[in-house]
Amino acid sequence: MMKEKKFEFEYEVYDDISQLTEEDAWLLREARAVTEQAYAPYSNFHVGAIAMLENGKVVAGTNQENASYPVGICAERVLLGSVATLSPNVPVKSIAISYNSAEGKSDHPISPCGMCRQALLEYETRTTKPIRLILGGMEGRIYIIKTAKQLLPFAFTSDELI
Ligand SMILES: [Zn+2]
Repeated sequence: MMKEKKFEFEYEVYDDISQLTEEDAWLLREARAVTEQAYAPYSNFHVGAIAMLENGKVVAGTNQENASYPVGICAERVLLGSVATLSPNVPVKSIAISYNSAEGKSDHPISPCGMCRQALLEYETRTTKPIRLILGGMEGRIYIIKTAKQLLPFAFTSDELI
């Protein structure tokens, strides 16, 4: 017998940064600022990501492009690589992600690409703690997602490999 099922999740929407808690606002401001460090001469799409770890450390990542396009890596995975290297297995409380595009406005949230969703989910699985995502541009509306897992229903995980 066929059964229909539904996937849905809740997320928070804020009009702008002034509505965030002090820590979340600080993280988003840092994510906005670190977009300056992105190396994005091909897309001109500069992404910055800042993680607040459970041990209080703050780690940054930016997208790093390459003349051989597929070699480029997103800010989120640069960030997770640094987190895993500097503070292995320390849970990540929150990650703020922002962007600055030379070509257009930065007034709405962007969310991680599919590959980064997979990487974020794996880090959650590895540390058994959810990662909150704070998504926003240089101005305007902000989304807060409670756990990266929600962005990747039916994810492929290490459970399948056993
Ligand atoms: Zn990505």
